[in-house]
This record gives sequence, C-alpha cells and structure tokens, in this order.
Amino acid sequence: MMKTTRSLLTRLLLGLLLLTLLPLTAVSVLAEDAEDTDYIVDETEVEYLFSVQARSENHIMQGFAAYGGVVFQLHDGGRCTTYHLETGTKISEFHLGSFYTHNHCGNANFGKEFPEGNTDFPALYVSGDLTTKACYVENVTATSAELIQTIYFDIDPSYTGGQVILDHARDRIVYMQREKSSIKDMNNVYRMCEFPIPSLDAGAEIHYTNADMLGEPYVLPFYPGIYQGAVIYGNTILQTHGYSGTATEYGAKVGMVCYDTATHAFTHAFDLTGIIDQEPQGTFVYEGRLYMNFVNGKVYEIKPKLTVKTDGYDMICVENEAQILDQLSGQIPTPYRLLSAKGDAVLWNSRTGEFQADVTLQTPYNELKVTLTGHALTHPWGEYRSNGNATCTENGTQTRTCTHAGCGRTETVEEMNSALGHAWGDWRVTSRQGASADRPIESACTRCGETQAATLKAVGLGTLEIVLITTVAILTLLALALTATLLYWRRKR
Ligand SMILES: [Zn+2]
Ligand SMILES: [Zn+2]
Repeated sequence: MMKTTRSLLTRLLLGLLLLTLLPLTAVSVLAEDAEDTDYIVDETEVEYLFSVQARSENHIMQGFAAYGGVVFQLHDGGRCTTYHLETGTKISEFHLGSFYTHNHCGNANFGKEFPEGNTDFPALYVSGDLTTKACYVENVTATSAELIQTIYFDIDPSYTGGQVILDHARDRIVYMQREKSSIKDMNNVYRMCEFPIPSLDAGAEIHYTNADMLGEPYVLPFYPGIYQGAVIYGNTILQTHGYSGTATEYGAKVGMVCYDTATHAFTHAFDLTGIIDQEPQGTFVYEGRLYMNFVNGKVYEIKPKLTVKTDGYDMICVENEAQILDQLSGQIPTPYRLLSAKGDAVLWNSRTGEFQADVTLQTPYNELKVTLTGHALTHPWGEYRSNGNATCTENGTQTRTCTHAGCGRTETVEEMNSALGHAWGDWRVTSRQGASADRPIESACTRCGETQAATLKAVGLGTLEIVLITTVAILTLLALALTATLLYWRRKR
C-alpha cells in the first residue's frame, strides 16, 4: 500500500517535472524556427459543405478549382469529376486531355483567357506531373476536357515536385518546386521562379528555359508538411499543406500558409491541425470565400478569424490626409494590404492629431472594409533660423527644420524687415569740367556696389547772381541818394 502511494507520488512528481520541461522544449524549438519563419496563426473556423468522390476509377482526388459555379475536382492520372458549387451535386466524370499515368493533377487553377469557342470557362491549368515538368492547359466544359497547350519547364537547376500557380494580379506563372527530392524531408525550401502566361494561340507546346524567367528565382520558407494545391489571390500565395500518412509522420501540420508575392515573405498560417485531421489536397477562392478539399472527399469553407488592429495607428511628420493613407499602408500588418481609399475617407484634426480612416483592406482571400483610427501629428518644427541672405534692398529668408529624427524636412519663408539698407561710402567727384562749373559727385555702397549721384556747386558767381547783385547795389545807391537829398532839403528849410 505504502509502495503504491510512493510510486503514485513519484509518477506525479515526474509528470509535473515533464509538464514543466515540455513548454521549455516547445519554446526552444519555436525560437529556432523563428529565425526564418515568424508564423502568425489565426484562429480558424471551418464549415463542411459537401463531399466529392474521393476516387475516380480508383484514383485519388487531388487539386480542385471552380468557375461559373462549377467545381472541377481532379484525380490522379488526369481524371476529373464536376459538381455544382452551391449544392455539391455531381455533374459529370470524364478524362482530361492530359489523361496520362504520370499526370498527378496536384494543382488546378483557372486562367483568364477563354479557349476559342468556349464562352463558359477560361482555360484550366493542370500541374503536378510526377515525371514531366509540364503544365497541361485544358479547354474544359462541365462535362468534357481537351488538351490545348502544354507548357514545359526546361530549367536549370531543376528540382522536384513542380507546381504551377497562376498569379493574375501580376499576370504570370509562379512555378514552385521543392529543393529536397524526398517529400518526407522537412528541411526543405520552396524554389520559386516566374514566367509569362503564354497566350493560348502561342502554340500547342511551350518550352520555357531560364532565359524566359521573369526576374530572379527566389526561395520561400518551408512549412512542415507536404505541400499540396495552391492558389494566388491578390498578393497572397495560399499554399495548402499536410501529411499523406499519419498526422505525426512528418511532424506535419494541416492547414494553409500564406506568402506575399511581392516581398516573398511568409505572412500567415491557418492551422487546421486538430480541426480537420485529414490530408488537404487543394484550394480555391470563389466570390470572397476560401475553399479546401481533403483526401476523404470532404469540401470545406475555411473561415480564418482574421484580426487586424483597428486603432493605435500613430504617425508623425504628416502634412495632409493623403499622407495619412500613405503611412497607413506601410503600417498595416501583413497579410492585409491597403487596397483602396479615397482622400475624403480620412477625417483628420490636424490640431489634436486624431484621425479616422475608412479604408478597404485586402485579406488573403477577400476584401474587408474597416475604420482605422490613430494620431497623425505634423512636423515638430524647430525655431526659424535666418539664412543670412538678406541684401541691401531685399528681405532674406529664414528656415526651420523638423526635429523628428530622420525626417530632415525644412520649411523656408521670407524673413520680414531683414533688408539691410545700403552702406554708402564717401562721396567723390566723378569728372572735372571748367573751374566755375558744377561737378557731379557719386557715392557707392560698400556691400552691393549700388551708386548714388549728386552735384557739387562750383565756387564763383553766375550771370544771374551778378545781375541780381548789381541790381540790388544800384537800387541801394539810389535809395541812399534819395535819402541824402531828402535830408539836405529838410535842413535847408
Ligand atoms: Zn518631420
Ligand atoms: Zn548696398
């Protein structure tokens, strides 16, 4: 009895010790992983919709795609079953034009161009061939398919598991391969390269080589788990992944990872482990909804609970509403992207800084209208400093600089009443004409060289002065004579 108790106690203690250690182990693993991938996993809800045939002619289902309300479920070896998306009702079962043993049909994406004579469905791009690095372009209806083009990827170096994803936003083929040949090797990376989408009338066979690549090849981080079908919506690669044996066989998780087509960065993961423990096969986005199928034939709508912060967007050095939108687009966390917003959607109090912006965000599979709020402050200006560029007659300028580190923005205005006035030098005579003539004189500004002129009067009397003086003298003499005459006349009387 005593022994049992001790044993239980020991087990309990061991259990507790293990429970304490486990999180540490988990944390250290996460920390190692975090070096190349920073997974943001949203809570995800799923809704079971309907089931497709898990097998066609005993060949297992693979990628799928939808257009015009019709689901095209591909099966290994170039087989296809079709369904109404609304009801899940089966429409037909047929062979693709690319009905080859090695055509695994891992992925299917609809293109944009319609094959000649087909107004219902654009061309369907089928990839994931096991032995040939090719993408099969099919002219499909709900009940038939015809191979109209084969795109070969004769590239070097060539890795395994080639899959075509169509990027309609950037009008190109994103061709992905895995670096390690073994599908079980979890130390993998995705090797990506991009090509133009060839026109349907460009020929029945297209051979792409390295010379046809758009831009440089790049690498995407690998998410533990076998990669399955993929689709690109907007700027996001939606890559399904999951095991093909048991859930723990490859340390794999079930779900979807998102990569940004422009930055090539991992942005998000929707983890379905423990929610749908089945091997995923493919995905498509249809009218704002995200679909995934699983190896047991079940089709689900995947509803990640996407959370984007709506407040606390703070910014500085903002001058107008358009700049608020500019700065917002840089602050919105991936996988969201500021899709469209008109200037008048922003209300800004430039005094308090408070703003409210009604914007549309692109999520990995649809659009989201949200109101974002925060504070947008103008430049914290320093004092105006004179530029010392005033002249004798013109005001100079003064400049203030934003004190926010890294901004460097300056503002220059007129410095009122800063004109210096001329600094006149000494007068000097500029020419000499006759001794009795007036002389022009001049003074120059010692700063700008501007001159002012005047006339220096000659010393001596002019004709007018002589006439005047003579006249005054005669009149004075006459007055004196008259006075003397009068005095003499009065004394005599
Ligand atoms: Zn500034
Ligand atoms: Zn001057």
